Amino acid sequence: SATDKICILGSGNWGTTASRILAENVHKIPTIDKTINMYVYEEMVDGKKLTEIINTRHENVKYLPGHKIPDNVVAIPDIVEAVKGATLLIIVTPHQFVEGMLKKIKDHIDTSRTRAISLIKGITIGKEGTATISMLTKEYLGIDVTVLSGANIANEIAAGQFCESTIGYECKQSAHLWKQLFETPTFRLSCVDDVIGVEMCGALKNVIALAAGFVDGLRMGNNTKAAIIRIGLVEMRKIAPYFSSTIKHETFLESCGVGDLITTCYGGRNRRLGEAFVATGKSMETLEKEMLNGQKLQGYSTAGELYQFIKEKNIVEEFPLFVKVYQICYEGADVNALFSGLNVSLQNS
Ligand code: NAD
Ligand code: 13P
Repeated sequence: SATDKICILGSGNWGTTASRILAENVHKIPTIDKTINMYVYEEMVDGKKLTEIINTRHENVKYLPGHKIPDNVVAIPDIVEAVKGATLLIIVTPHQFVEGMLKKIKDHIDTSRTRAISLIKGITIGKEGTATISMLTKEYLGIDVTVLSGANIANEIAAGQFCESTIGYECKQSAHLWKQLFETPTFRLSCVDDVIGVEMCGALKNVIALAAGFVDGLRMGNNTKAAIIRIGLVEMRKIAPYFSSTIKHETFLESCGVGDLITTCYGGRNRRLGEAFVATGKSMETLEKEMLNGQKLQGYSTAGELYQFIKEKNIVEEFPLFVKVYQICYEGADVNALFSGLNVSLQNS
C-alpha cells in the first residue's frame, strides 16, 4: 500500500504544468498514493470557483488554458486540508507567498517523514533576513528540501517541447525520488549537489531578465542583449558566495544557470514587462496587473530584496547591474543609465 502522498502547493502557470507531469509519473512508483492534492488559491473565474472548474473540467482555465490536467489531481482551496497526510510537498507559488503558507502548514506536517522540493525562483526576506526558499522552508518545517530550476518556460513544457532542468539536492535519496517523479522523455533532468547554487541562479536571472527587457524597450539589438546576459551571469556568480560559501561554479553552467538566463532574457514574463516598462512609462505594479492576468512578476520584488541584501553587506560597488535595475525600477533612474559603470572585465569585476 502507498506510504507517500503528494501535495502541490501552488497552481499557477508552472504549478499547473508540474501537476500534469507528476500525475503521469506517479503511476511509476507503487509506494506513492495516486491521488495528488493541489492547493489552489481560491478565486472566482467567470462566476465559478477556480477549484470547482479544475475538479470538473480538469483544466486550469486561468493559469494554463488549453491543457488538460489528469483526473488524479484534486484541487483543494484549504491549505491545511491539502497537506493532510502529505509526505511529498512540491512548493511552487510566487516567492512572496511562501512564508505565509509555511506558517499555515507548519503544525500540520509530519516532519519526521516529509520532504519537499521547491520549484520557485525568488529569494525572500524572512525571520532571519534575506534567504533562499529552501532556507526559509527548512527554518519553518525542518525537513529535507530539494530544488528544481532550469530553462523552463511553463507553456513550452506543457506543449511537450524538449528541454532540460536542474535538480539541486542535499540528500541523494531525495534527488533520486524527485528525478523519477519529474523526468519525462522531453523534460530531462541533471542533479547537482548544490541546493543554494541552483536556487540563486533561478532567483537572480529574473533581475537580469528585466534588464534584457529594458534593452528591448530601448530598441537595442542582439549585441547589447548578449552583453547584459554575460555581465548578468558574472554578477550572479559573484554574488552567490555572499549567500553561501558552498556554491559551486559549475552550477552556473547547468540549465538552471546559463540556460535559464538565455531563455528568460528572450522569452519570459520578466523580459516582457521590462520592455513594457520602458515603452509605456507605467509602474511595474500596474503592468503586472494589466498584462499578466493574475500571474506574478518575480524579478521586480527580487530586485528590491536583492538590493536590500547588497546594501546591508555594503557591496553596492561590486554589483552595478543589479543596482541599476533596482534604481530604474524603484527610484525612477533613467533607463539609459543601465549601461554606465558596468564591469565589463571579469578580472577587474
Ligand atoms: P503564476 O505567476 O502563473 O501564478 C500566480 C499564482 O499565485 C496563482 O496560482 C495565484 O492563484 C497565486 N496567488 C495569488 N495570490 C496568492 C496568495 N495570496 N497566496 C498564495 N497564492 C496566491 O505562478 P507560477 O508561474 O506557477 O510561478 C510560481 C513560481 O514558479 C515562481 O517563483 C516562478 O518564478 C516559478 N517558475 C515559473 C515558470 C513559468 O514559466 N511560469 C517557470 C519556472 C519557474
Ligand atoms: P518568467 O517568470 O520571466 O516568465 O520566467 C519563467 C522562467 O523561469 C523560465 O525558466
